[in-house]
Amino acid sequence: MTLESVRKQYPDGTVAVGDLSLTVKAGELVVLVGPSGCGKSTVLRMINRLIEPTSGRIVLDGEDVTRADPVRLRRRIGYVIQNVGLFPHQTVRANVGTVPRLLGWSRPRIRGRADELLDLVGLDPAQFANRYPHELSGGQRQRVGVARALAADPVVLLMDEPFSAVDPIARTRLQEEFLRLQADVRKTIVLVTHDLDEAVRLGDRIALLSEGGKLQQYDSPAALLGEPATPFVREFVGADRGIRRLAVTAITAEMLAPWPGPTAPTDLPTVALGSSLYDALAVLLTANADEARVVDGTEPVGLLSRHRILSIDYPAERA
Ligand code: ADP
Repeated sequence: MTLESVRKQYPDGTVAVGDLSLTVKAGELVVLVGPSGCGKSTVLRMINRLIEPTSGRIVLDGEDVTRADPVRLRRRIGYVIQNVGLFPHQTVRANVGTVPRLLGWSRPRIRGRADELLDLVGLDPAQFANRYPHELSGGQRQRVGVARALAADPVVLLMDEPFSAVDPIARTRLQEEFLRLQADVRKTIVLVTHDLDEAVRLGDRIALLSEGGKLQQYDSPAALLGEPATPFVREFVGADRGIRRLAVTAITAEMLAPWPGPTAPTDLPTVALGSSLYDALAVLLTANADEARVVDGTEPVGLLSRHRILSIDYPAERA
C-alpha cells in the first residue's frame, strides 16, 4: 500500500497532515507513532476513507482507492479501535460475523469463519461465541475486535491505539499474542500508538510523525533508536533509549567471551543466542549474576557479561 503526497486540511485551516508519502510492504506491520495531535489517526482514517483526503492518492493492491466506493473499500480493510466498538446487543459470534454478513455469506460459512477466528485469537468458541460483550474482560473484548477485523480476510488491517484501553499487564500479553497471530496471518498492518515502547515491540518499521503529519523518520525500530535522523526523533526517542536499544539488539557470537568448557561455573544463568540483550540483562539481574551462559540450542557457545551488555558499541543497525 502506498500513500502519495496525502494531505488533510480542515475547513478552519488546520493542516492535520501536510504532505505524507509512505509505502507499506505486503505483510509488513508499520507503526505510526508521534505526540498527541500529530495526525496519526487522521492518516489511518484517510486510508479507509472515514476522512476524505484534501489531496494526494492512496494506492492499495495496485488500485487507486482515493475515489473508490468507501463502503466497499471498508469491507476490504479491517479496522480495530481503542474501545473496540463491539455491538453490545449481539453475541461474540455475531460480532465477528459482521462483515461476512454484509458480504452475503451463507450462515454456515459465517459461523465456521467466526469460530475459526475465535480459535485463532485464543477464545474457545464453545465458551465464548454465545456471550455478549459485557460478559468479557477488556482483553477478551480486544481479541474479539481483532477477530472481527480479520473476518473477511481484509487486504489491510488498521489499528488505532488497539491496546490502550487494557491494563499494562494484559497489554503486554495481548501484544505478544498479537505478534504470534501476525506471524501466522501476515497481514499488511498500519497501527497507531502514542507509546514508543509499543511501537518498538510491534513494528517491523516505525513512522515517526511530528505535528502536521510530518514524517520525521521511517525505519526499523533498531535504526530509529540507533540513528535518530533529526533532533525531533532524538528527543522523542528520549533518555531511556539505551534500554530500548537493548530490547531490539540480538545477542550475536561476536559479543561473547569464549566458552571455557568443563571449567565453567555450573550455576550460571542461561540465555539463548539470538535473544535480546534486554532479555540477557533481565536474566542476569534476576539471578544476581555477572555472567550468563549463552546457548545455541542446547550447546553452550560463550559467556556474556553484564559489563559487556552495558558497553556494547552499537554498529549501524540498519535492518
Ligand atoms: P493524533 O491521532 O496524532 O492524536 P489526529 O489525527 O487526531 O492526531 O489530529 C490531527 C490534528 O487535526 C489535530 O491538531 C486536531 O486538532 C486536528 N483536527 C481533527 N479534527 C479536526 C476538525 N474537524 N477540524 C479541525 N481540526 C481538526
